[in-house]
Amino acid sequence: MRPIHVIGGGLAGTEAAWQIAHRGAPVVLHEMRPVRATAAHKTDGLAELVCSNSFRSDDCATNAIGLLHEEMRRLGSLVMRAADANQVPAGGALAVDRDGFSAAVTSTLAAHPLVEIVREEIAGLPPADWDSAIVATGPLTSPALAEAIRAATGEDALAFFDAIAPIVHRDSIDLDTAWFQSRYDKAGPGGDGADYINCPLSREQYDAFVDALIAGDKVSFHEWEAVTPYFDGCLPIEVMAERGRETLRHGPMKPVGLTNPHAPQTKPYAVVQLRQDNRLGTLYNMVGFQTKLKHGEQVRILRTIPGLHNAEFARLGGLHRNTFLNSPKLLDPTLRLNAAPRLRFAGQITGCEGYVESAAVGLMAGRFAAAERLGETTAPPPATTAHGALLAHITGGHIETIDAGPRSFQPMNVNFGLFPPLAQAPTRGPDGERLRGPAKTLAKKRALTARALDDLAGWIGSGRMAAAE
Ligand SMILES: Cc1cc2nc3c(=O)[nH]c(=O)nc-3n(C[C@H](O)[C@H](O)[C@H](O)COP(=O)(O)OP(=O)(O)OC[C@H]3O[C@@H](n4cnc5c(N)ncnc54)[C@H](O)[C@@H]3O)c2cc1C
Repeated sequence: MRPIHVIGGGLAGTEAAWQIAHRGAPVVLHEMRPVRATAAHKTDGLAELVCSNSFRSDDCATNAIGLLHEEMRRLGSLVMRAADANQVPAGGALAVDRDGFSAAVTSTLAAHPLVEIVREEIAGLPPADWDSAIVATGPLTSPALAEAIRAATGEDALAFFDAIAPIVHRDSIDLDTAWFQSRYDKAGPGGDGADYINCPLSREQYDAFVDALIAGDKVSFHEWEAVTPYFDGCLPIEVMAERGRETLRHGPMKPVGLTNPHAPQTKPYAVVQLRQDNRLGTLYNMVGFQTKLKHGEQVRILRTIPGLHNAEFARLGGLHRNTFLNSPKLLDPTLRLNAAPRLRFAGQITGCEGYVESAAVGLMAGRFAAAERLGETTAPPPATTAHGALLAHITGGHIETIDAGPRSFQPMNVNFGLFPPLAQAPTRGPDGERLRGPAKTLAKKRALTARALDDLAGWIGSGRMAAAE
């Protein structure tokens, strides 16, 4: 049987290789380290964790990342097996001994008879005679390969930095203060003239907001990030605030073309706009609000915006060196490049964010590629599972919009906002008591995770996606 080639031995590539081999297909894993380094990796080990050693919450009942852990365990993930075996104490989080973790992944793959590991850079598109390849080269894909992908997919298809604006759960926005309206009631493509949620600020509120942005604690760029030219033309809101008090009011916070129906006689001094981010309509992103404020500061400062006092954030903002595709446009539902289906993509390069999410996308890509090689049919995981929700974000759940600035598809961690809403959210507790506030939110999360694990079992049980033990 001809091998499947996996390029990149990081979180996604190692998991993909494992899933392929475990299902009985041969795989060649190409990793460029130590022949060629990246700016962030420090070792030669596969699946190196380049920064924190945390896989975040391990709570599979009420946390979306914990649910993803559990689903991966049930799908026979090597990354999760190595993480569990190298766990270090971290309360409710799953943290690992990074060297032990990387060594476990490396030795397991090296020992597998169907896996060949080649230490080399793939410095262009995979050779034409590789009929199935998975590109899992991550946020620091080597320049030669990145340029080849860009040439094959188009100028705007591959981004070299992300410009992440915070995303808010729609049901946490106060619509007694905010309102739906597009500027000048203009109906854009697919819109109805009321496509944005608008949050009004008075002059005092705006001034206090600008002061808070300027004073807020920021994350600095890594030295190797600071020299990249790609950040030009995409300013964080705090930098705009520093450039002049009125800059934001003439940029993303301009108040023109909008009338507040809650106070039609009062013209807002500034307006923050949020735009629908996913087809499900559960998530709204803060337009033009990319920021390098520390996460805690973002929550504190953004909650001073009228309408967002109780905002729950599905994603906080950031600006980093990255490499990722405009996946919803370019990839099919099993992560193949529409224009060249012999190529699949996996990991952070597809527009997911985080170690675990990258490995999960690697897991799916590996299974899809193996099934194809073995002549089996593949169904993507149901959208109600954490895997399916993540895959839907990457391959079609996001709504592309046309505002100026960075393109709207940006990296995303797994979160409950990506899941289809429950048909019937729980309203009563086990003793029949009426649920309110945090208890209601918790019950909803429990119902979402229970539904996910049930549906995952159905997917595994369908036979077409038999779980590795
Ligand atoms: C500086 C930095 C810090 C981060 N910190 C965190 C964090 O704390 N927590 C978190 O959850 N996520 C973090 N991330 C985000 C992300 O989750 C990780 O980068 C994750 O490792 C991505 O997995 P991946 O498999 O897609 O890429 P990687 O794990 O980076 O794997 C890609 C592999 O491909 C290899 N490669 C690249 N180009 C080629 C080529 N042409 N030929 C052959 N091999 C190649 C690389 O050497 C690398 O081993 C961070 C990212 C960066 C850049």
